[in-house]
Amino acid sequence: MSPKLDPYRIEKRYRVEPGSEIHLSDWDPSDTAGFDGGKEEGRRYLSGLNQQLESLQELLYAENKHKVLIVLQGMDTSGKDGVIRHVFEGVNPQGVRVASFKVPTPLELAHDYLWRVHQQTPGKGEMVIFNRSHYEDVLVVRVHSLVPEEVWSRRYDQINAFERLLAEEGTIILKFFLHISKEEQKARLQARLDDETKHWKFSLGDLKERALWPEYQKAYEDVLSKTSSEYAPWYIVPSDRKWFRNLVVGSALVERLKELQMSYPAPKDDLSQVVIED
Ligand code: AMP
Ligand code: MG
Repeated sequence: MSPKLDPYRIEKRYRVEPGSEIHLSDWDPSDTAGFDGGKEEGRRYLSGLNQQLESLQELLYAENKHKVLIVLQGMDTSGKDGVIRHVFEGVNPQGVRVASFKVPTPLELAHDYLWRVHQQTPGKGEMVIFNRSHYEDVLVVRVHSLVPEEVWSRRYDQINAFERLLAEEGTIILKFFLHISKEEQKARLQARLDDETKHWKFSLGDLKERALWPEYQKAYEDVLSKTSSEYAPWYIVPSDRKWFRNLVVGSALVERLKELQMSYPAPKDDLSQVVIED
């Protein structure tokens, strides 16, 4: 018998304690917290989480008070797109937006690296998912030396200050690192190669990034060690099993949104005597 899913415990297990030093070799990408129900049971739990998320998002939108920012980071094939599709299934698209950060345009590069990011942050009642984020500016930028070390090394403090500003102004921030093994990435890249309908997702550049695996793992370790805070925690999400990855992200989000104790706003008018005429 696999243990029952307790979203609170799942959420806690993978949250990065602020100030702790992270070694990714200590974090098993295929961990399932003792669940052995596999895909089938995982799907059942996820559909429960989907429903809770749907109601919580409706409350968020109706209350029009909090702003929610979800950051997704991870190596190619780690499942950023999959999380967006599966965890947010059923959520009203009116209140949720996805912002994807690609190679910066010349206009973006002419500004500081947070310029394009700040524009995409959520407004009141809104939930925004970042598919990649400002963290690329201490990941790909660092690994490829796109700016000198003295420039990228200052960015951890800048990012913490930026996220603190957002949080103090009412933004709830959750950050997820989708942790996969190098072997699992190989299998997923191979699956893309084997399926013509997935070729559009494959770029030769992905293989170049794969060759820099250790450099990326080190860059991620620094991100996780230096930028997990009470106001913007990181979660290390074991992502070799897709169903479990979705459960971890869904649980963390549902738990955090429940803490807000949101309620529907009172109607603008007194509705107690209203009669709708025939
Ligand atoms: P994808 O997410 O597969 O569509 O690819 C987006 C690409 O944009 C990835 O290779 C990222 O590393 C790259 N990218 C995102 N942000 C930056 C950035 N600030 N500087 C350089 N490359 C970036
Ligand atoms: Mg890609």
